[in-house]
Amino acid sequence: MSHVFPRHCHSDLPRAASGDGCYLIDQTGKRYFDGSGGAAVSCLGHSNARVTQAIKDQADQLAFAHTGFFTTDPAEELADMLIAEAPGDLDRVYFVSGGSEAVEAAIKLARQYHIENGQPKRRHLIARRQSYHGNTLGALAAGGNAWRRAQFSPLLIDVSHISPCYEYAERHDDETLAAYGARAAQELEDEILRLGPDQVMAFLAEPVVGATLGAVPAVEGYFARIREICDRYGVLLILDEVMCGMGRTGHMFACDADGIAPDILCIAKGLGAGYQPIGAMLCTRGIYDAVASGTGFFQHGHTYLGHPIATAAARAVLQEMKDNALIPRVRQIGATFEAALQSHFGQHAHVGDIRGRGLFWGIELVAERETRIPFDPAHRVANRLKKAAFNEGLICYPMPGTRDGKVGDHLLLAPPFIMTEPQIDEVTSKLGRALDCVL
Ligand code: PLP
Repeated sequence: MSHVFPRHCHSDLPRAASGDGCYLIDQTGKRYFDGSGGAAVSCLGHSNARVTQAIKDQADQLAFAHTGFFTTDPAEELADMLIAEAPGDLDRVYFVSGGSEAVEAAIKLARQYHIENGQPKRRHLIARRQSYHGNTLGALAAGGNAWRRAQFSPLLIDVSHISPCYEYAERHDDETLAAYGARAAQELEDEILRLGPDQVMAFLAEPVVGATLGAVPAVEGYFARIREICDRYGVLLILDEVMCGMGRTGHMFACDADGIAPDILCIAKGLGAGYQPIGAMLCTRGIYDAVASGTGFFQHGHTYLGHPIATAAARAVLQEMKDNALIPRVRQIGATFEAALQSHFGQHAHVGDIRGRGLFWGIELVAERETRIPFDPAHRVANRLKKAAFNEGLICYPMPGTRDGKVGDHLLLAPPFIMTEPQIDEVTSKLGRALDCVL
């Protein structure tokens, strides 16, 4: 009997024994192509020699130094590398252990910034429905996924939720993309005005929605308009790129493609590429200066922030991406991947939409293509498909539909950046067999 408390108490999981490039291998020797990088984590695959060597070297040299007493070379150098790539005025990096912690830190920094700036009434956070920002209480409150929040709602801070920019489901037939984007962004201004502009501290959004919608980018112009609205009312823009950042969309940061920069940016997953648990929150010089020249102390911290082995691993991940030009590669192989998904599944009777960017793709499954009616969540289509694909030796990340029928079942594909063209064929044929088996 196992003494591990698993997330799904009644699941019977195989034991992962080793990793080999894009594959995970279980203890029986069965190989699984990691088509979703776990949950968009393993961007370099599972056996990158440079990263594992960096971890060993750092462990030999220095495993831990508390940030209350020391800074370290890997943390300093990784921060420099990130800021060299970061958009806009992002200038400081706060290292944490994962995505939820990055979002918690961002929410608290936004609040502290306004207090330092003499605007303590700014306490409202606005986020979007059908978003996921993590499982700790602050991040869970920010997320708009009703099912995840339900039983904890008495413990959650009050957050307003506006619509996401979800063209497939929400654009009217007679509406242009630009008009739809403007309408979706207008919800933010309306909500700021409803709450009172001097009461709102920040707006939080994923540039490409991951875990709740399956790789949904905003339509062109939406985020430019969001940026304008935030600036007009002194509301901070926090972008959550925990899933879509670090090269996943074919740009180092997903917001690069939208032509905007946030005031605070959250990253994790691809930062450590699964080799170490690490996340980060980046903020502008202005925000940092407000804290530095005010109380001089960010009222937030965890024991493992800036962990030397984690930052050494992430430094090696970034170096590997640069030396092997992996981000241009994501754009190039991503285009081939998209074409293969469209040609194999684009006309499938139960595939409503295929959308994404780079190597971040979502497949929306529907009961009927013409009417776009989702499957009844009781049929557990996404989960059954995950299982059928897993039996075929393909890992893909399922997203069940919501019980209110507003969002249907999805499948997320986020393969490693080192995926080859023959492996694209492997993914499409395994997924094709899984679809045949379930639908
Ligand atoms: N934000 C986004 C957009 C995510 O997709 C996730 C995890 O899936 C998180 C935050 C939470 O990250 P973590 O699971 O590392 O705490």
